[in-house]
Amino acid sequence: MDEFRQNLWSPWRMEFIESLAGRNGPGCFICDYRDDPSSDVQNRVVWRADDSLVMMNRFPYTNGHLLIAPARHLAELDELNDDELRRIWFLTRDAKRLLAKVLEPQGFNIGLNFGRCAGAGLPGHLHIHIVPRWNGDTNFMAVLGDVRMIPQALDALYDRLRRASSDFGSPAPDGETGP
Ligand SMILES: [Zn+2]
Repeated sequence: MDEFRQNLWSPWRMEFIESLAGRNGPGCFICDYRDDPSSDVQNRVVWRADDSLVMMNRFPYTNGHLLIAPARHLAELDELNDDELRRIWFLTRDAKRLLAKVLEPQGFNIGLNFGRCAGAGLPGHLHIHIVPRWNGDTNFMAVLGDVRMIPQALDALYDRLRRASSDFGSPAPDGETGP
C-alpha cells in the first residue's frame, strides 16, 4: 500500500482533517451533522432521534462501518444520562440488525475508543463503532483497489441502508422499538 493511499485510508487521520473543517468551535463533524438535518443524505446519516444519531463512517474500516453517537457533544460514558445510554445501545442493536439484513456479514466488531492513544479520531464526542466483518476481509482496503470508487460505493450502500431502514420503521422515541 503506497503512502498516499495509506494516509487516505487512515480513519483517525481523516476524521482529524474533517474536524478541522468543522463549524462547531474546535470542530466536530458529529455536531455538524446533528445541526444540519437537511444534509442527512450528503452526510450519510442513516437514522436520527431527538438525542442520538446513526451515520456511516465516511472512511470505513470495512463496507458498512456505522457510527452511533449521542446528539450532545460529550466525551465520556459518565456524562450521558440514562436515556441517552439506553438509546445509543438500542440504536446499536438496530443498526446491527440493519447491517445483518442488508450486507449479511459473518461477524461484527462493536466498540468505543476513548483517548487518542486508544485510536479515537474524535475524542470529544463519544461514538460507538459497528464494523461488519467477513472471513478474509483484513485486506478490504487493498481489495477495494481504486480509491476513487469509494464515494460512489458509500452512496450506493447508503441508499440500500435507508431503503431497508424505512422497511423497518425508524426507532420510536422511547428507543424500545426499531428494526
Ligand atoms: Zn460533537
